[in-house]
Amino acid sequence: MKFRFAQWLPLFLVVVLSRAALSLDREAFSFTRYDLNLQIDPQQQRLGVRGQITLRNDTATPQKVAVLQISSSLDWRSIRLNDKPLQFVSQPYTSDIDHTGALTEAILTLPDAVGPKGTVELEVAYEGVITLDATRLTRIGTPQDAAAHTDWDQIGENFTAIRGAGYVAWYPVATEVANLSEGNSLFEVLRRWKDREAGSMMRLRTTVTKNDSSEPSQLLFNGIPCAARTQEQMGGPQHEDTDCPSSSLRMYAPTLAIADYQVLEKPSMEVRYLPGHDAGATAFADAAEKIAPFISDWFGPRREKAKTQDLADRQAAPFESGAILLTPLASTDPKVAGLAAAHQLTHASFFSFRPWIEEGLAHFAQALSLEQQSGRQSALDYIGLHRSALTEIEASSGTTKSEDEASRSLVNTTSEELYRSKAMCVWWMLRDMIGETALKKAIAAYRTEQDKEPSYMPRLIAAQTQRDLEWFFDDWVYRDRGLPDFKVESAFSRKTMTGSFMLTITVDNLGTAGAEVPIVVKIAGGEVLRRLEVRARNRGVIRVELPAAPQEIVLNDGSVPESNVSNNIFKVSPGEK
Ligand SMILES: [Zn+2]
Repeated sequence: MKFRFAQWLPLFLVVVLSRAALSLDREAFSFTRYDLNLQIDPQQQRLGVRGQITLRNDTATPQKVAVLQISSSLDWRSIRLNDKPLQFVSQPYTSDIDHTGALTEAILTLPDAVGPKGTVELEVAYEGVITLDATRLTRIGTPQDAAAHTDWDQIGENFTAIRGAGYVAWYPVATEVANLSEGNSLFEVLRRWKDREAGSMMRLRTTVTKNDSSEPSQLLFNGIPCAARTQEQMGGPQHEDTDCPSSSLRMYAPTLAIADYQVLEKPSMEVRYLPGHDAGATAFADAAEKIAPFISDWFGPRREKAKTQDLADRQAAPFESGAILLTPLASTDPKVAGLAAAHQLTHASFFSFRPWIEEGLAHFAQALSLEQQSGRQSALDYIGLHRSALTEIEASSGTTKSEDEASRSLVNTTSEELYRSKAMCVWWMLRDMIGETALKKAIAAYRTEQDKEPSYMPRLIAAQTQRDLEWFFDDWVYRDRGLPDFKVESAFSRKTMTGSFMLTITVDNLGTAGAEVPIVVKIAGGEVLRRLEVRARNRGVIRVELPAAPQEIVLNDGSVPESNVSNNIFKVSPGEK
């Protein structure tokens, strides 16, 4: 039995809900356990779910009202407590946490208030369809085509892939509104949700209806095949039942796929690919095997195999969740495969719940692998792609206020440009400053369970070097102080008694963050490389002995993100001796 006032008393509802909305804390409860039975009918694109969920009151006060949200393409059928139906109001709730841009909310009143940290177990039932829907993107102006290749989730006759919260709310969630047109709103809502779900477990049993035996039947949950239980044959449609391994939700969106996958197994990676995509699968597996020893040397032995899963839409935007990558394998670019493998294998070796460490290191690994295979310049070119995005967003942030400095810092940010691109540059700069051996030792010393505060990783790094790095962490990690801007203030050279040249360079940092800047001095027939630490709004002096007269000084080889690189070349005039 259910109460859907919306159909009966719209006027009354508006009054009640607008009052309730004022006091409604949608994030009061976390969901600590899901035990769900899924009925999937690929031909109808239908999903029907029954199961138990456990809610925990995360607030300091007793709560009597709980909110359960599912995708707007699904409807609540019943919510029960101790075998008794609970009263609830079902209403649409506009939010971009779901691909449809809206949720179906059940606002339910519990018979007794749940105390702080207390839990309550509910039995839920809901159903509907999951079709391709990119409403949340098209309504903010994304062209239809691009939007559909980004929000590609759907239950489909030949191929099914659906990602969890942040894409499709196919299991109940409870979040405040997320709005893609408001800066980082979606990322912030998602981060709060993932933090609350960090210790949650999900167990799935699934029944897939098959109308003919040629339909795909392999079901994967978070990249792992679910075990078949029974296969009923009753003349009509067949049902395939599977038990999926319990999965900790950690920081990822639980992902389901039903496909006709073939498997390519290698020691470091398994690739699941669709018929005809053998070449793409081989390229990925080979790239992984080639780079695996290098990644393990940097980031430790693999905790799990990296997993690559094919997507049917050959233009689909790739999606990663830990060591799993969902990407179209229709084409084969060995360079793309190599970069993807370096990233995935890093996740397979190393885990941190802090995005600037987790994602920053995985991107850093991509640059390292390029350097190892094709030299430093190739890595710097790759960093350059990230750097330009970074320069743009640092410039758009304008003069930073103190609270922005903290909220945009690497340890707090929800901005992907910062925790991916900027973090990668930070790891690269640290490697250049303290050396490879010291940085590898710091990474090896990292233990996720001991990471209780933002300063944990910086302290591990500081322990490996005599250098004072506090200023660096202040400018780049704990705060967002923007970027440096280096300029040669002056350069003088004189000939020494032995015939060599002594060049004295004064470098100004006009920017708001300090860094150690690489300096290239060009001379006839070669160049000399030095590094100089210059703090924010400060200057530094370096003396370089050269075998020939200096011609030109170039600051920054591209490894340090800088706000203005137009003033980085300095011609040493013959007069300056
Ligand atoms: Zn990643």
